Amino acid sequence: MAFPRRYPPDLIDAVVQRVVDARTVKAYGAVTTVARQLNLDPRLVQKWVTKATAPPSPQPGRPAADSWEAYLPAGLLHCKFCHQPMAHAELQDSVQGYQCQAGCRPRPLDAAAITDAVGRAILRHAPRIVPSTGTPTPPHLAAIHAHRVLARITIGATPSDIALTWRAAPLSGPGVDTERVQAVATARHLALDDPIRARQLLHDSLTGIDTATAPAHPLYIDAAALLAELLLRLGRPSDAIAWATYAHRSTVQLHGPTHPRGLHALHLQAVAHRRAGHHQRAYRLYQELADQLTRLEGPHAHRTLATHAATALVLHALGHCQAARTLLADTITTHRRDHPDHPATARMAQHLTRISHDCAAKGHHHDA
Ligand SMILES: [Zn+2]
Ligand SMILES: [Zn+2]
Repeated sequence: MAFPRRYPPDLIDAVVQRVVDARTVKAYGAVTTVARQLNLDPRLVQKWVTKATAPPSPQPGRPAADSWEAYLPAGLLHCKFCHQPMAHAELQDSVQGYQCQAGCRPRPLDAAAITDAVGRAILRHAPRIVPSTGTPTPPHLAAIHAHRVLARITIGATPSDIALTWRAAPLSGPGVDTERVQAVATARHLALDDPIRARQLLHDSLTGIDTATAPAHPLYIDAAALLAELLLRLGRPSDAIAWATYAHRSTVQLHGPTHPRGLHALHLQAVAHRRAGHHQRAYRLYQELADQLTRLEGPHAHRTLATHAATALVLHALGHCQAARTLLADTITTHRRDHPDHPATARMAQHLTRISHDCAAKGHHHDA
């Protein structure tokens, strides 16, 4: 398709909005997905999105939506009333919030307001743990260090009703500092145009992080998932495994097994093992993913069926060609019926043809 040289602003706005919408469903890959759907150059779409969604400097106390959760380490927040941990929850209009258990509060509390209050307290009472950059540190960047000086944050009815439990001594070790946050944000914007440079930035931002022992931290989860995705794209599945595994385990720890980012990381983990040739492990991971998606989106949802199709390919790789063909044929029937115009049906059918040819070449005689 020939691209017109100029695009009307309305179209650009609509495309950017579509990417923003896609990101609320799936943490990564939105630009590529939307570009493919609209037959546009992904680099062009990335440029529009970067321009539209990356303000040069975020307003104090109102972190950029993309990286909001990098600012306050999870696991610290507890509810004053039900004493349960407070986890990430979305308010209306994709404003980020924190919520405790169901039935305790009428609605989540504004995450940016809480982060701002915690950051101000840190700047007032423990300014020395914040690395000096020569310019005054905004509160939301100071809040990145909350886990080093605070043991607990107890939240009452409003974001300003906060009680802080300070640690006797600040924790040391690899801190989450402003530079790491910047590096991850930059890597995200570069991921499409310059994957090698993005990979280097992510490696830098994960310096000192042992994927086997590192605690769950939103910034590292973000960086690890993005790095795993890049390594897969660069044909390095073995290197992607540890990062995808860390991202999945840690997201489950912070947000539970059904959080979209957790499912995304689980998918990355399954793909990494499959491409690395660990089919047995990949099989179990795809099954876990299919279980979660069935519960979350239903047995006939596209993503559930796509996971079944991937499972069938793994079964074939494991030598269970009859089971693979049966599963794939059933999946194709359901997918064609429930998603009549979806291009994935044709891809699944191609895989089935390939497997059938493989069986024929090997002289297998399967029951119809
Ligand atoms: Zn509560
Ligand atoms: Zn066979």
